[in-house]
Amino acid sequence: MAVLPITVYGDKILRKKVAKVTDIDDKIVKIVSDMFDTMHNANGIGLAANQIGINRQIFIVDISPVEGYENYKPLVLINPKIISKSEETSTFEEGCLSIPELRADIIRPKGIYIQFFDLNMKEHSLEANDLLARVMQHEFDHLQGVLFIDYLDEESRGRYKKLISKIKKRRLEVNYPISSDANYLLLK
Ligand code: ZN
Repeated sequence: MAVLPITVYGDKILRKKVAKVTDIDDKIVKIVSDMFDTMHNANGIGLAANQIGINRQIFIVDISPVEGYENYKPLVLINPKIISKSEETSTFEEGCLSIPELRADIIRPKGIYIQFFDLNMKEHSLEANDLLARVMQHEFDHLQGVLFIDYLDEESRGRYKKLISKIKKRRLEVNYPISSDANYLLLK
């Protein structure tokens, strides 16, 4: 059980397409458990491995704290692959534990069909919609080195420029630990 520092915008690993998990060993099991501790401590509903400096394709989601989603079980997704996306889109205000204080409306497909492995390396596929699909797409993007602010148009990006540079310099007030080194990497 450990709460780890969360990487912040500007950290190189957030811009990296991370590597596939080839087998589940004790190290991976420990990483996933630390990811849950870290996410819950920061009141997040999703977390990707590179947000704790881990170069592996793993993300977790737990949307059960959100009203209306109490029955949704926490999920671990290893080597996830989005098979298809709905044509229908939705707009939702997103935030990110690695880009604190910035929230913006982002348009994404409303539903996805996603394939992944669990901690027993058993393959699963599921159809996700609404908030679950939203969080999964956000976290999946992290593993490709993509951040939600990449979807902002030029005008909005201009509006957030000051805040983004403040975040990069870590002039932040957050109530969870953040990385202090832009090269922070636990597992190469
Ligand atoms: Zn994020």
